[in-house]
Amino acid sequence: MPLPRKAPAPLEYPYFERLPLSTLITDIGCLVTNDPAHGTGPLGLLADAAVVVEAGRIAWVGHAASAPAADEHYDADDRTLIPGFVDSHAHLVFAGDRTAEFNARMSGQAYTAGGIRTTVAATRAATDAELDTNLTRFIEEALRQGTTTIECKSGYGLTVADEARALRIAASHTPETTYLGAHVVAPEYADDPAGYVDLVTGEMLDACAPHARWVDVFCENGAFDGDQARAILKAGQERGLIPRVHANQLSYGPGVQLAVELGAASADHCTHLTDADVAALASSDTVATLLPGAEFSTRAAYPDARRLLDAGATVALSTDCNPGSSFTTSMAFCIAVAVREMGMTPDEAVHAATVGGARALRRTDVGSITVGARADLLLLDAPSHVHLAYRPGVPLTAAVWRAGVREV
Ligand SMILES: [Zn+2]
Repeated sequence: MPLPRKAPAPLEYPYFERLPLSTLITDIGCLVTNDPAHGTGPLGLLADAAVVVEAGRIAWVGHAASAPAADEHYDADDRTLIPGFVDSHAHLVFAGDRTAEFNARMSGQAYTAGGIRTTVAATRAATDAELDTNLTRFIEEALRQGTTTIECKSGYGLTVADEARALRIAASHTPETTYLGAHVVAPEYADDPAGYVDLVTGEMLDACAPHARWVDVFCENGAFDGDQARAILKAGQERGLIPRVHANQLSYGPGVQLAVELGAASADHCTHLTDADVAALASSDTVATLLPGAEFSTRAAYPDARRLLDAGATVALSTDCNPGSSFTTSMAFCIAVAVREMGMTPDEAVHAATVGGARALRRTDVGSITVGARADLLLLDAPSHVHLAYRPGVPLTAAVWRAGVREV
């Protein structure tokens, strides 16, 4: 039996009610609330601020001078408090290692397809306990860097049993679980992709839907075309799953338009967009989730965040953490790259990595520091949130609270 070393993070902490004490976090030099009603700009910035946490939730936000009394007191020492990061796109249930593939790619050797199959073979061969131990390690690694909500996809099993167990294991750690049986066509179906789509929309969906909130598909040349992706997403919708789409990553294609057409929560990657794609995202509730770790780790051109933001689209930043094309859990790294390479301001990048991710997961209880929100907090050892981009690669985490519980 896989035993997490500490309580996992289900939708609601069962021990909320066992935390009767209120905590006043005061002397916050810079507070990012993400609520314009609280302060300056879209980030709702507040200086000399304080926050009261009670029963796992934010109970009060305002200027330190007018803060109410609380049972306990934490001095932020003039540092920066932001909402915990919301990483809305990650592939964390896997086994094996692809260091050699990365090393070859970065050493100028031609990319040879089949990398994902290496991970599929290793994942199928792993025990439940091994997969759970790996997943726990990555979630804790992300938490130490300030990520308090993380989405987790299947997609390295590609059989009914292996996809279902990936989601079952993921669901013991996060409510944000995504059925990605349509990651690539399973090797056994290489000559019968239509048969694999039948499996993904039939028996595999039946086995996976009870453990998943979302359904996803890799809509791309060499993976699933627009018609296949539509069939897979609609089948998921009929089982109560909400669509999200790997869209327009490697080439122009129908993914973004399909995401908007089906009311998907998010179109992810968005690297190759036509003007019509940008307009469709801007006039919809579908969030454009950008994953700069993937372009960084494959030496590819970055998505144009500026173009999306100027059109009025909602943008999220996420890690896409996976062993092949983006093996990072660092949201701070994604912020730094987005600012340096993708035309985002530091404020926009921090917004996208917190409340942007929350919108991509259709969550209103995380991603902001407002009364009633879950007390997911990241204290930065810095005078400003801008340091996340200004000091790339530097560990700035001073403390992390998840649902009011000090975790780091
Ligand atoms: Zn992905």
